[in-house]
Amino acid sequence: MHNIAVIPGDGIGREVMEEALCLLEEICKTNSLLTIEWEIFSWSSEYYLQHGEMMPKNGLDTLKKYDAILFGAIGDPRVADEVSIWDLIMPIRKGFEQYINFRPIKQLAGINAPLQIDKDIDFVIIRENAEGEYSNMGGNLYQGTSQEMAVQNTVMTREGVKKASAFAFKYARSKNYKKVTSATKSNAILHTMKLWDREVASVSSNYEDIHFESVYIDALTAYFVQRPEEFGVVLASNLFGDILSDLGSSIVGGLGVSPSANINPEGNYPSMFEPVHGSAPDIAGQGIANPIAQVWSLALLLEHLGYEQPADAILQSIQHVIQEGIVTPDLGGTCTTKQVGKAIRDQVKSNLLGAEKYES
Ligand code: NAD
Ligand code: MN
Repeated sequence: MHNIAVIPGDGIGREVMEEALCLLEEICKTNSLLTIEWEIFSWSSEYYLQHGEMMPKNGLDTLKKYDAILFGAIGDPRVADEVSIWDLIMPIRKGFEQYINFRPIKQLAGINAPLQIDKDIDFVIIRENAEGEYSNMGGNLYQGTSQEMAVQNTVMTREGVKKASAFAFKYARSKNYKKVTSATKSNAILHTMKLWDREVASVSSNYEDIHFESVYIDALTAYFVQRPEEFGVVLASNLFGDILSDLGSSIVGGLGVSPSANINPEGNYPSMFEPVHGSAPDIAGQGIANPIAQVWSLALLLEHLGYEQPADAILQSIQHVIQEGIVTPDLGGTCTTKQVGKAIRDQVKSNLLGAEKYES
């Protein structure tokens, strides 16, 4: 029995979440072994406009009791982006020590992605999500004068790098990925990146079965485009991982099909699963948002909770509807969010019913 907190958020976040929840309901109906309950929280920009805060003061205490969080997207033209991000998403990521950001980069057949190669692209990006370049250490001197200068510190700890590396190698082994690639820049960023290199290499020595390579970030971006099929697990610091993640998702089809997870590997706090995309005010309310990224994020959540079979069924079903051409305009189709959601649901249902028959 698991309990999930659901935060649909704003704009298309709410539209795609509806499809994910209908799917979850269907899965629970189809598979009696799976008992998941969920509660929906309306924390969003709309909530902020009414209450003056993105979530209640005890928001994190409330969320802490859940086994996982399924998040939609936030952002509203009437509320500054730094408010919606720093008062809702960031407190969850930081408060729950979700120091791993996880993104599968998988080419689904039938998607007209910008890289026209017929090789199998299937790798994951594991980004250190808690420290590194995104620190609030630094400052700005002589503001407003011609001498103005700003300093932004990168903070890396041995422990932080070690924990992220350990997650990457463990994950590679568990999923049979043969290679871990570490993104570095220790030729130019001498202090932090040398610590990064040393610590990642030291963890790699415990995983002799997995090939380890360290690649300069600038070259790595080129390899993402030139030979993406060669990667297994790509491990990167916060900033490098942020950039690689968007590059990665764009080579396999874009935001509409890009899921992510913010993971607390120790499991002492809930992990959070969310599409990479935002609330897309430009198409919100039109019913044409692609629900795949959200539905795939649900699959990552189910897998995280140990429900491998429905997670696999979701992914196979996503693949199936894309190949059938049941897709929203961002993938060149004419279907609505609801049509795609229903097609995935029907497919998951027949997939799971078939599997149950097979087992019994
Ligand atoms: P966005 O991801 O919302 O949209 C970028 C472009 O991609 C838009 O043209 C949009 O229509 C399209 N798009 C995104 N998701 C899609 C989907 N599922 N189906 C079809 N098309 C899709 O990014 P943005 O426009 O830079 O930001 C809009 C708002 O979202 C801002 O307020 C921003 O702060 C917020 N945002 C939130 C998150 C989050 O909740 N984690 C992430 C990114 C942006
Ligand atoms: Mn980013």
